[in-house]
Amino acid sequence: MVTGRFAPSPTGPLHAGSLVAALASWLDVRAQRGRWLVRIEDVDLPRCVPGADRLILQQLAACGLVPDEPPVWQSLRGPHYEAALRRLVDGGLAYGCACSRKDIALAQAALGRSPERGVELPYPGTCRPERGGLRGLTPRAWRLHIDRCEQNWPPRLVGAAQAAIHLEANHRGTVNWSDRRLGPQRQAVAEAVGDFVLRRADGLWAYQLAVVVDDAAQGVTHIVRGEDLIDNTPRQLVLQRALGLPHPTYLHTPLVLAEDGEKLSKQNGALALDTSDPLPRLRAAAEHLGLPANNADTVPDALAQWVGAWRERWATHADA
Ligand code: GLU
Repeated sequence: MVTGRFAPSPTGPLHAGSLVAALASWLDVRAQRGRWLVRIEDVDLPRCVPGADRLILQQLAACGLVPDEPPVWQSLRGPHYEAALRRLVDGGLAYGCACSRKDIALAQAALGRSPERGVELPYPGTCRPERGGLRGLTPRAWRLHIDRCEQNWPPRLVGAAQAAIHLEANHRGTVNWSDRRLGPQRQAVAEAVGDFVLRRADGLWAYQLAVVVDDAAQGVTHIVRGEDLIDNTPRQLVLQRALGLPHPTYLHTPLVLAEDGEKLSKQNGALALDTSDPLPRLRAAAEHLGLPANNADTVPDALAQWVGAWRERWATHADA
């Protein structure tokens, strides 16, 4: 069954940008007569704001966006992430890492690499098992072994969605995939991010692992989310392949920019969405998605018209 989800991090209330992603994923599911889920992504507990989860659910409901099943909280799903990590470690696809930030910076400097501002360099591989592993040290974080994943990625192409994803065995972990809105995409994961973290040194689960485990557990087939997350998709495709999970299709929605041209986000103080009068808020989100204006008087009528418009616009791409 076509299954989509909205997966907000409860770091603040819903804002104009997150409503675009929520509406798009809801419309995509309704246009295909599927199932729409909400998952509260509260793995990064220190960043979560108490009560924001409830507020987001209320704001969604005020906009007529009600999940078909009770929401799921990631903070309650630790044992599932643990089991997935265990499988990867047992299969040699993940390893413990004892490096501190300073150790990593020193190893990188020794390789003649220096970070550019704001860009994190790929992990230099110091604790990889073939380089001697932990050498008796206690693991701080756990990382995916991207080269071993690449050596192991089976050309298991089942169905149209999978055929759009092509992993190249070229020692750069290159993932080719196709976004439903933005078309063909490509990332050399080994060079771009390297052995990325699955469980952080502070014990928290990394977004990449949690999202992949949960999308599979919930049977999510159609991921629709903001374009700010598009860079993460290749890592998630690699993890899905490493865990033997099916690949969903992806559609990344255009970002809502703040007045200063930056992405509108909770972090730069985006205003909480005032849902006391939801229709104008929904109209703005629909317009941002390129949907034609309609003059429906009620939220359900407006939503129904946008479902039709969405179907016309995206249905032929739904299984591309
Ligand atoms: N929790 C993520 C966020 O709020 C979204 C995750 C996703 O849709 O994959 O940015």
